[in-house]
Amino acid sequence: MSLDTIKCPNCGYMYQMDLGEYKQNLETIVTRGIFGKDKSKLESSNLIDLKCPNSACGKSFEWKVE
Ligand SMILES: [Zn+2]
Repeated sequence: MSLDTIKCPNCGYMYQMDLGEYKQNLETIVTRGIFGKDKSKLESSNLIDLKCPNSACGKSFEWKVE
């Protein structure tokens, strides 16, 4: 398990999360068809949708997984 540092492009808030695990969970969800329309997008890029945990911001943004 490795933590990646995320910085919100909207407010600059920085936090850490395990992106590899997050992406894996996301792909599991996609495989189940819940977010079927986003499947091609997920497979064709390393961009994932994150939501800023800063309660004063809370905006969604795309983050590139290395
Ligand atoms: Zn933010």
